[in-house]
Amino acid sequence: MSASAQDDPTPPPWGARERRSLLQRLTSERPTWDLVVVGAGITGAGIARDAALRGLSVLVIEAQDVAFGTSSRSTRLIHGGVRYLEQREFGLVYEALRERARLYEAAPHLVRPARFLFPAYRGDRLGPWMLRLGLTLYDTLNFHRGQGHDYLDPEATRIAEPMLRAEGLRGAVQYEDAVTDDARLTLAILSDARRHGAEVLTYAKVTGIAGPRGEHVVTLEDGTSIAAKVVTIAAGPWTGPALLGARGEGLLSLSKGTHIVVRSVDAPVRQPLVIQAPEQRRILFVVPWGTRTYLGTTDTAYEGDPGASGVTTEDEDEILDITRRVLPGARLDRDAIVSTWSGVRPLVRAEGAASDDTVELSRKHRIVERDDGVLAIVGGKLTTYRAMSEDIVDDVVARLLVTWPQSRPRPAACSTHTRPLVPGLPLDAHELEDPLLADLVPRHGAAARALAQTGRGTERLVDDLPYRWCEVDHAIAHEGVCHVIDLVRRRLPLVLTDRDQGAGVVREVAMRLVEAGGGTQVDIDAELERYRHEVHVETGRTPGVDALR
Ligand SMILES: Cc1cc2nc3c(=O)[nH]c(=O)nc-3n(C[C@H](O)[C@H](O)[C@H](O)COP(=O)(O)OP(=O)(O)OC[C@H]3O[C@@H](n4cnc5c(N)ncnc54)[C@H](O)[C@@H]3O)c2cc1C
Repeated sequence: MSASAQDDPTPPPWGARERRSLLQRLTSERPTWDLVVVGAGITGAGIARDAALRGLSVLVIEAQDVAFGTSSRSTRLIHGGVRYLEQREFGLVYEALRERARLYEAAPHLVRPARFLFPAYRGDRLGPWMLRLGLTLYDTLNFHRGQGHDYLDPEATRIAEPMLRAEGLRGAVQYEDAVTDDARLTLAILSDARRHGAEVLTYAKVTGIAGPRGEHVVTLEDGTSIAAKVVTIAAGPWTGPALLGARGEGLLSLSKGTHIVVRSVDAPVRQPLVIQAPEQRRILFVVPWGTRTYLGTTDTAYEGDPGASGVTTEDEDEILDITRRVLPGARLDRDAIVSTWSGVRPLVRAEGAASDDTVELSRKHRIVERDDGVLAIVGGKLTTYRAMSEDIVDDVVARLLVTWPQSRPRPAACSTHTRPLVPGLPLDAHELEDPLLADLVPRHGAAARALAQTGRGTERLVDDLPYRWCEVDHAIAHEGVCHVIDLVRRRLPLVLTDRDQGAGVVREVAMRLVEAGGGTQVDIDAELERYRHEVHVETGRTPGVDALR
């Protein structure tokens, strides 16, 4: 790709045509890739970007859509993890805070700092003094970058957040962390990997990895075989024996986390809140999200398909009960729920650990190697994806250098510490007064300028949500959308924020997608069926046919 294309904030084209030409290349040219990455969650995306920037040829293979797994089902925080201080995970907190600072620079449109309010009530496990102590340590591990924490007495706490229950309130700490859009962050990383030459094939499940060290053959479900010098598995909670063989036995403990979404008028909090759940020894977050507020998460051991963890009424009730305790004036009943999501944490099981309690398990990552040299990376956090990627790509480069041809330029050093995810000048305050740009920037950064000027479909899809029709066409042409659900769930989180899960607009979206790919009415019907099915699996809701216009 030319230098000017690498500086263009608009992501390179990535639609049906690019997919066809990649498939053609894989079957006719049959290239040998320096690196094949299995999984296009944030970890796989980070590995691909780091490796592509170093000059390696990279192919990412994803069984479903970009960020289909845990990377679109998190609490959407870029944070040091105050809670891990209790587990004395100082190294993890330090690393996550350092990565948070890097993400502020690399993706300011996607990683937005906020003041979090963490109250303490009578009977809570963590009282005001413990919170002050913890946050002092948090600020220290952050090298006192940014605004440090504040302690608020009960009166000041209620001024900061009048929704909080007054009875039993002992005070609060207010501190900085950041909120993101997990799926779009993953997409931005992957788009930048593509900008630097990486290829991504979605809806292609890896069913086997064979061959000796340095000469691996990756087999896809449809029988296609792909040659790779090094293979890294970044399959999150799917990293089990099917991909890792014996090394995958008992490697992970899976833990399910559920979130619910309500309208912000029903839980009008002014800032993200951290709530203690004394019985569960956990904390929950209440996060304002435009005209919505989301609440979560649960933390329960899980077995089964990580892509179909779903949400039960018990999950919903647990979150509603815990939150109602501190926000008595909020309308938090089952009818208030707009949508839900759940994800599965791929936690690395500690060797010889006495407890398998998922609340206590470390969020640190680990690199595992099969006997034939295939690598896998497991655990970690959304926040630490870049450091994890650097770690494993260093290893990949060392392996490749053993047989690196003299005629080829040597791989560059890692450069992801400082490079922006979307090149181009950020928008200034004056530009952000434009309501269209104000809607687009949080998802597109500097690319919003060109998107706003396309002149096509500047209306909102749904009146009280900031998603615009021009984004639908843009996603079809530039964001690797194969199915309607990819677009209305992960490119635009309509399924999570619209009371009808996007049912009112999904037919029009399907028509545009199918038209762009050269399909027929049968394909539109199939898209709508797939959308209905996947929304039901994830949220338990069934978008009604009647709602489809
Ligand atoms: C409820 C919850 C809340 C969380 N909150 C936060 C938070 O606020 N902040 C934070 O920093 N972290 C958070 N995390 C952790 C974070 O979300 C995960 O660590 C991260 O998303 C894991 O990314 P991943 O790429 O490793 O895995 P995934 O995102 O799960 O990606 C793995 C991918 O591999 C694909 N795959 C699987 N098998 C195959 C195959 N055979 N062939 C091809 N592809 C395959 C899957 O389809 C999937 O897309 C949270 C996690 C959960 C569950």
